[in-house]
Amino acid sequence: MIAPALTRGYEVVIGLETHAQLSTQSKIFSGASTAFGAAPNTQACAVDLALPGTLPVMNRGAVERAIRFGLAVQAKVAPLSIFARKNYFYPDLPKGYQISQYEIPVVQGGRIEFVLAGQPRAVRLTRAHLEEDAGKSLHEDYHGQTGIDLNRAGTPLLEIVSEPDMRSSAEAVEYAKALHALVVWLGICDGNMQEGSFRCDANVSVRKPGEALGTRREIKNLNSFRFLQQAIDFEVRWQIDRVEDGLAIEQATVLFNPDTGETRAMRSKEDAHDYRYFPDPDLPPLVIAPRWVAEVQAAMPELPAAMAGRLQRDDGLSPDDAALMTQSLPFARYYEAVRDGCVGHGVGPGRAVGAKLAANWLMGEVSKRLNAEGRSIETASLAPATLAALIRRVADATVSNSGARQVFELLWSGGHGDVDAVIAEQGLKQMNDSSALLAIVDEVIAANAKSVEEFRAGKDKAFNALVGQVMKASKGKANPAQAGELLRQRLGSAG
Ligand code: ADP
Ligand code: MG
Repeated sequence: MIAPALTRGYEVVIGLETHAQLSTQSKIFSGASTAFGAAPNTQACAVDLALPGTLPVMNRGAVERAIRFGLAVQAKVAPLSIFARKNYFYPDLPKGYQISQYEIPVVQGGRIEFVLAGQPRAVRLTRAHLEEDAGKSLHEDYHGQTGIDLNRAGTPLLEIVSEPDMRSSAEAVEYAKALHALVVWLGICDGNMQEGSFRCDANVSVRKPGEALGTRREIKNLNSFRFLQQAIDFEVRWQIDRVEDGLAIEQATVLFNPDTGETRAMRSKEDAHDYRYFPDPDLPPLVIAPRWVAEVQAAMPELPAAMAGRLQRDDGLSPDDAALMTQSLPFARYYEAVRDGCVGHGVGPGRAVGAKLAANWLMGEVSKRLNAEGRSIETASLAPATLAALIRRVADATVSNSGARQVFELLWSGGHGDVDAVIAEQGLKQMNDSSALLAIVDEVIAANAKSVEEFRAGKDKAFNALVGQVMKASKGKANPAQAGELLRQRLGSAG
């Protein structure tokens, strides 16, 4: 057992409740659209408006997504679960209750696995339950009035509750990232955090090692990983200061202010009994037959952890490379397509060489461009087959690595698909004519007496500098290996 990391002698304890918006077309209990960004109240039907006499009808697609999640986290998918009314008054909740699940949720137990500082970690899940979202209050600055938008009312959510297993903000962030990657990979949530499709409540307490759990405060609605980290760090400092001052922590719901980086109590925390939960008489128990679970299992995509294992086994990738290649399903598919265009197509020897080259290009040039442009691989116009064609041209020495990077830039931004045409247009075809290269080598030797001297004195660095000069003089067209060979010949050294 590893000793817990302590903060000023205290152990930090964190449990997360995450709301993942399920990617169904229509709402959880009505046929209204869930599309984001419509004009206020244009996507709220009679059920969402809670008009008297309306009845909820369960959306099969939402249940199917919950089953998919349960299977992916190795949880129990309950054969029978119950919808309950969570009663409270708020202007954006016209029914006066939220339909949720309470005593018997659809997903029970399970675990999320991830890597923290190079070490494998698993956080246990308590449960995941289906529920509806509430509407939204829009406070106007100018008139001082508040409007209610019920478009979001009835949007399907899966609330995923972890055990209090996390011991630092860094661990909470890695857990949340792994959970986010998983729900997006499974295709059950679009993962758009700005639009609120994935948001976390962080329950935080502190204690001296060995003591019982401390009283927690719950930070609501964190919709970025950075806010999650900042909010927990602030909260931990605040709680430890308070305990050190001899004051008690009171259970509370708090809000994080991104502008100040501080958390502030919003209300003293309700207990479950304040909500007067009871089974919703409008909805029958949710019954999931084993056959349905088996069908969902059969249609499951390969999961990221399994795929990362396969890429290590079959392609010889390192654990880190494999984890990067499986950061999202489209990224993994892109990698596999580039690899397939390399392996067995003259990039070798062996499968691992082509696989590693494909991975290197994805981690290098491709990721650099995606990060700079703030987008994901689905939107890239460069086809994987084109990137593979470029890698093949490096492998057969048609173009140098630096030349290939220039070609890549043009292919990436121009949407141009013909690698050989771009190499020719840009004059980047490597010199395979040794007499022309020899002339350049002689020029470089004549112009760099100092480096030549240093090289003769045994300095490797000086040799690299000379190769660099040849590459420069040839405008990147020389083959560096060939240039090195000619340099050594000319300098009359066996190296
Ligand atoms: P609710 O917030 O709805 O009352 P629970 O009591 O089930 O629900 O707890 C919600 C979350 O709080 C869970 O993720 C759980 O792991 C976490 N939690 C419970 N006790 C503590 C504690 N002492 N410190 C930190 N987190 C806790
Ligand atoms: Mg809670």
